[in-house]
Amino acid sequence: MNPFPTPRSERPACLAASSRQGLGRLVAVAGGMKRRAGRIAAAPVEEVLEALGEGALLLDPGRGLARANDAAGRLLGWPGKPPRRGTGLAALLRRAARLDAAQRRRILACAAALQGAADAAECEAGGLILRFRRLASGQTLIVLAATAGDEQAPRDPLTGLANRRAFHTSLTAALARPGASPVLLLLDLDRFKHINDSLGHPVGDALLRLVAERLRGRLRAEDLLARIGGDEFAILLEHADGVAGLAERLVELLGRPYLVEGHLANIGVSIGIALAPTDAGDPETLLRRADLALYEAKAEGRRGFRFFRPDMDIRAQARRTLETDLRRAVALDQFTLHYQPQLDLASGRLVGFEALLRWAHPTRGMVSPGEFVPLAEEIGLIIPIGAWVLREACREALRWPEDITIAVNVSPLQFEDGPGLIRAVQGALAASGLPGCRLEIEITEGVLLHDRKETLETLHRLRAMGVHIAMDDFGTGYSSLSQLRSFPFDKIKIDRSFATQIEAEGGSGKALVRAITAIGASLGMTVTVEGVETDVQARFVDDSGGHQIQGYLVSRPIPPEFIRALLARHNPHPGGPPHAGGQPHTGELGKKSSLQDNLGSRA
Ligand SMILES: [Mg+2]
Repeated sequence: MNPFPTPRSERPACLAASSRQGLGRLVAVAGGMKRRAGRIAAAPVEEVLEALGEGALLLDPGRGLARANDAAGRLLGWPGKPPRRGTGLAALLRRAARLDAAQRRRILACAAALQGAADAAECEAGGLILRFRRLASGQTLIVLAATAGDEQAPRDPLTGLANRRAFHTSLTAALARPGASPVLLLLDLDRFKHINDSLGHPVGDALLRLVAERLRGRLRAEDLLARIGGDEFAILLEHADGVAGLAERLVELLGRPYLVEGHLANIGVSIGIALAPTDAGDPETLLRRADLALYEAKAEGRRGFRFFRPDMDIRAQARRTLETDLRRAVALDQFTLHYQPQLDLASGRLVGFEALLRWAHPTRGMVSPGEFVPLAEEIGLIIPIGAWVLREACREALRWPEDITIAVNVSPLQFEDGPGLIRAVQGALAASGLPGCRLEIEITEGVLLHDRKETLETLHRLRAMGVHIAMDDFGTGYSSLSQLRSFPFDKIKIDRSFATQIEAEGGSGKALVRAITAIGASLGMTVTVEGVETDVQARFVDDSGGHQIQGYLVSRPIPPEFIRALLARHNPHPGGPPHAGGQPHTGELGKKSSLQDNLGSRA
């Protein structure tokens, strides 16, 4: 039943007459009907278009929608009842489930062309062809038809599940049902990219099919399961009963190993859950809120699920603000480096500095890397920031005596593009003129967890440039010792948490520092203990055979302008023993320098 009865004054014949260029098949069909019927009142434009499988929207000049036929609703994918008379074109398009923002903009631009001289325009968006015609009455007719191809297909070809568009349509319909309280679960696979990158796309595709199978096997017939993105799935449940239990079972189920084309693959899943109508009553808000819950699940260590909470919206807002500020910081050069010295215990001399990133925020003051590096990694800004750190640190180090090295922390994200990292290091060395052997790259154990083959290749290429490689925050990861076998590191830096345990009553700190030092030294690596704050700790490291210390006992990280003075105090004679009066600069001993001082260090 057409919801918009056609006034007698608007008939196909007037359309044909008013559109000089004609409407192709429409006109031919309408003409045929006219000839057959001898009169046209029985063939309103919507019916003609309906018969052709085409949609029609008629807009009054400046007053929005005059009429729409059912096919238009189906093609655009708007839910349930058609929009009200008078609804503007932009609002009509916003209701169209199949169109995204860019597609909507394209259509509006096409419509705007009609405001000018043109009386016909055509565009393609979201698998639809839209033909605009300005009628003699001043109204605009929009004829919609599906393009060839599978844009309309409701299925994801890889898994056979509903696709994003079909899911959105079902979600919209479910929310429109009176008294309904559906539940939306958004699932995102953890570490799927790693499988795709290391084992190839065919294996990745096969894995996605296995995931779909496992999910389908666990859900009831009335639950809707869809693949809505690369490694994203969505589930629509009719009600919230038992949803937490289901989410928990899905996390466990998808976390089991997969045997895929002869490879053993381990992935996990994070799930965000939003409930209607409590969290939202419209599909867009509900999707966005489930996505915020998913983000939180990911941020809190993956392999888990979270329900949406209102404070997530507030945090998301803060994150957006930080992101905007961070992008501006890159453009405006608001970063600066501080340098923390490393002391050689045998000679008592400073032998190097570690460059530590600081952000001089215009209103918040100094922001610690712990607050912005994770976000910078997430939005990809760590790559340009990391390259800047390399350039700046090398430039600064060239001003120091030749026996002083510079250590730079490199994020696992930078290692994901090995050739890019090599170029950044080469560029920094070339621009500064610093010899490669004075640069030390500090990596965390996380670097070696992914793409081992490519990572090792990158490390060897850096080594071939003379660059030294240090294993940072050693002992905090879960496979520390095996990491040491994978690459001949020049140095291991024992994590600061061990230093603080040296003086702890009955703690295992002493035994661990001694054992790690012995292993490092036996492998020919320099052993540095970080976070050394007291003489007792320093003496213990020395007695245990450790080579270097870094921490507040020697100095806190300092701006570059103080380096010369610090060197003069500790290394008064080039190559000679320390000055008798060379007391360690104890800095602010009461204040712990945090693990997150390190660019790229993760707790
Ligand atoms: Mg470090």
